[in-house]
Amino acid sequence: MQRETGTMCIMVTGGSGLVGKAIERVLQEEGPKTGEKWIFLSSKDANLMNLEETRAVFQKHRPTHVIHLAAMVGGLFKNMRQNLDFWRNNMYINDNVLQAAHEVGVVKVVSCLSTCIFPDKTTYPIDETMIHNGPPHDSNFGYAYAKRMIDVHNRAYFEKYGRRYTAVIPTNVFGPHDNFNIEDGHVLPGLIHKTYKAQMCVEEGTSLQVWGSGRPLRQFIYSLDLARLFLWVLREYDEVDPIILSVGEEDEVSIKDAADAVVRALDFRGEVIYDTNKADGQFKKTASNAKLRKYLPDYTFTPFHKAIKETCDWFVNNYDIARK
Ligand code: NAP
Ligand code: GDP
Repeated sequence: MQRETGTMCIMVTGGSGLVGKAIERVLQEEGPKTGEKWIFLSSKDANLMNLEETRAVFQKHRPTHVIHLAAMVGGLFKNMRQNLDFWRNNMYINDNVLQAAHEVGVVKVVSCLSTCIFPDKTTYPIDETMIHNGPPHDSNFGYAYAKRMIDVHNRAYFEKYGRRYTAVIPTNVFGPHDNFNIEDGHVLPGLIHKTYKAQMCVEEGTSLQVWGSGRPLRQFIYSLDLARLFLWVLREYDEVDPIILSVGEEDEVSIKDAADAVVRALDFRGEVIYDTNKADGQFKKTASNAKLRKYLPDYTFTPFHKAIKETCDWFVNNYDIARK
């Protein structure tokens, strides 16, 4: 099939997840953009751990551009339990997607790394040049090394074929359509779900259990802000080298601050207990957004408390369909 000159067919792997749904919503809010056709994939369209299924879905849609989000994803505690699966599954998915993209002539792929893949022993703030400078935190080495290899793929596809395959490096993401499973998910969806449940039984004295000391620090990015930045990277950013997508260093908060924000948004009146028998994970991974700021000095992030409130409201209003 001959495609009209100047049209982009953008295929989003992992289109049914937290970040994929946010991109879909931002596109709906923006209204249709001339020359762009979007396809959102879930694991039902293809198991990207399988090379033949991956090739088939790329052959079927023949995208010109790809936003590659699909991954085995989980919070600290799932990572600690399943390092081997995180390593193998993500290695297969990334190798298959990038190779299939190359084979059908995709001109640009934007993949997704994470600030939790950076070296554990490091100076702060962390920047884009430091990905390979030392071992990641022990808790998630499987995920971290698999993600780091995307950067190796991108450099090698550029060196050998001149492909402009790049990656973004978001900090901790949260928002509607997150995975609210308490055992497997990240801290904010976990706390939102736990607070919601505790609230149901607050009369019986049920407390909210926050895991760990509450002291670790994180930079959280709202999925809708990340989605807007993803669209900018797809349309405007021309480097093969990755770019950190993060709020500023001054917007880093403690896990206790995050728990307080959830408690406030859900108006939870019960006791909050810190279970220090549970792991704290990496103490901090403070990232610099100086590179992003050089490109987009005026980009405004949604205030943290507003984004938390919107996410809590989404969870309460969509309790029946939320992933949990
Ligand atoms: P998510 O909500 O868990 O969604 C994962 C997506 O990947 C889903 O669409 C899922 O499809 C798809 N997927 C998983 N395994 C697959 C497979 N074998 N074949 C095909 N599709 C598969 O994840 P997310 O939070 O949106 O994460 C998106 C990207 O951002 C990931 O690359 C992640 O590493 C990165 N990231 C996330 C965070 C965070 O805090 N969440 C932080 C930094 C970076 P189904 O819906 O069909 O299962
Ligand atoms: P990380 O940022 O990659 O470490 O992953 P998470 O999003 O899972 O955040 C982990 C941090 O939040 C650790 O300091 C945990 O001790 C703390 N935490 C507190 N309560 C929870 C919870 O209910 N779920 C999770 N996943 N982490 C929690």
